[in-house]
Amino acid sequence: MIQIPFNLMTPVGREAEHVQAVLQSGRIGGGGAYAKRCEAHLQELLQGARVLLTSSCTAALEMAALLLELEPGDEVAMPSFTFVSTANAVRLRGAAPRFVDIEPDTLNLDPRALEAAIGSRTRAIWPVHYAGVGCDMDAIGRIASARGLDVVEDAAQALGAGYRGRPLGRFGRLAAFSFHETKNVGCGEGGALVVNDPSLVARAAVLRDKGTNRAEFLQGRVDKYVWVDLGSSFTLSDVSAAYLLGQLERFEEVAARRLALHRAYTGLLGPLEAAGLARLPHAPDDRTPNGHLFYLLLESAEVRRRFIDHLEREGVQAVFHYAPLHLSPMGRALGYAPGDLPVTEDLAARLVRLPLYHALSEAQLHHVAEAVLGFFGLPAPA
Ligand SMILES: *Cc1c(COP(=O)(O)O)cnc(C)c1O
Repeated sequence: MIQIPFNLMTPVGREAEHVQAVLQSGRIGGGGAYAKRCEAHLQELLQGARVLLTSSCTAALEMAALLLELEPGDEVAMPSFTFVSTANAVRLRGAAPRFVDIEPDTLNLDPRALEAAIGSRTRAIWPVHYAGVGCDMDAIGRIASARGLDVVEDAAQALGAGYRGRPLGRFGRLAAFSFHETKNVGCGEGGALVVNDPSLVARAAVLRDKGTNRAEFLQGRVDKYVWVDLGSSFTLSDVSAAYLLGQLERFEEVAARRLALHRAYTGLLGPLEAAGLARLPHAPDDRTPNGHLFYLLLESAEVRRRFIDHLEREGVQAVFHYAPLHLSPMGRALGYAPGDLPVTEDLAARLVRLPLYHALSEAQLHHVAEAVLGFFGLPAPA
């Protein structure tokens, strides 16, 4: 029986109080008071960025594809080692993802492979900050500006993380964050679009609100709101925003806790790396990580299968991701084949994630570490 699940999202502060208050207010739609308070928090965390709360990171990525006016025939360079939403947002506009291999140390977009993948149809680069460790944004930014390409950061896992002293989510023309229950802070389902280009702010607000000028109506600037542009329903209910606010108010504490757990894993599992049995994650010195997730790179897919079974017998749930998008049925239909992205294929087959969340206790983490070391016949940590 699983005693230590892979993930849990639990209240860390005033979530219940805020949700109770919003229910009593009778105003639970999108764009409400709690959404505005969340946006203000995020704006501060992201050093003044314009932030629009959305129903998911998926929604924010779809908004980005609409704002860039991607069209059939366009290509967007992105990793294959990512969640489906990064690629779906592009495909929904009829454009095609151009899958690029990753660096073995960060599992992020490899700038050299990126440079080679860019062609006459490339319109944009969508890097993904895997595990809350930033991509090499200087290198990617140089490639993008030399070719006049837009950068959209999939920062779903990266809230609170930085690259060379600047917060992730501030490098692209647009960036998307996630408040899904698996992320550092969240509200079950939720997200945010960061609009770093001021010329896109007004249109982003219209897109989020079904293609209407409802925002202007609410400000009393028009007497009836009308259909003015493309759009969809990308807003977050204020019930969800109230929960999210409780989490954001404790953001520093949650971040510190996750980093402490990450460090504890690194300390306890160090012997595995020393013995050459597994590789642990190490962020380059110029990245400020946010402790989003902890993974091990094992010797092979076969070892991983036995490892996950062993942990399950010890009551610990371990999982892996991502099935490389270029080898999925959708990726194959786009013409990709095994061998196209060797680093992605190798690492994705051997990576396993360990439980890491705010409510994970030291005793539980110790139990996980003991189960992991036990699989390799190593003694329990002191
Ligand atoms: C979680 C995640 C998403 C999707 O986030 P949702 O809020 O669930 O839509 C997209 N990209 C990456 C890299 C993610 O980790």
